[in-house]
Amino acid sequence: RRLVIAVDGPAAAGKGTLAKRLAQALDLPYLDTGLLYRATGRRMIDAGRDPAQGAAEEFAASVGLEDLSRTDLRVPEVDRAASLVAAQPAVRRVLVDVQRRFAGEHGAVLDGRDIGTVIFPDASVKLFITASPRTRATRRWEQLATDPAAPDREEQITRVEREIAARDRADSERAVAPLRAAGDAVRIETDGLSADDVLAEALRIVAR
Ligand code: C5P
Repeated sequence: RRLVIAVDGPAAAGKGTLAKRLAQALDLPYLDTGLLYRATGRRMIDAGRDPAQGAAEEFAASVGLEDLSRTDLRVPEVDRAASLVAAQPAVRRVLVDVQRRFAGEHGAVLDGRDIGTVIFPDASVKLFITASPRTRATRRWEQLATDPAAPDREEQITRVEREIAARDRADSERAVAPLRAAGDAVRIETDGLSADDVLAEALRIVAR
């Protein structure tokens, strides 16, 4: 049967790390759906348009899978632009098909915010990945830090925590496809767990 695994949760909870490893373990294709919104925001910025002003759907329509390997999609201005374009219903409508088609006949692992609620409400397995705001900010900071021993480490992490909180608020409070665990999603709380622990837990859930 076609195995579709939905991995949802707030920013920097470890969805991507898990989804990628899960896909590898199960020999399924993997799609980071956040990149579709990031690529849309990126295209608007490049065109000199303000992502807050709407009309992002024509940019979303021109995004293809080949755009997702761009290296300039994980910068703070694109974090914000992605969240802004993602709140536009027309943008989400345009991107639904790309995501559904990606799973094709053989299935896939997809990570995002609304995979289990909107894109694949009948997914085989739905996981909702969370961690405390501090843990998420610390992990994100460690990924990005140029100096892991920076004397102002704690302040820098606090700044990341504020940015993540603002994005989670926007993603949870928007009218269309707000960030929410599907009723039938299994939650994995990842504070204190290693990436290996989370993968093992997810594989147990998939197997049952
Ligand atoms: O997952 P990532 O942080 O890369 O996502 C960037 C932004 O894209 C999120 O803040 C959210 O606004 C949006 N997004 C979404 N639905 C998804 C994936 C991402 O709205 N399935």
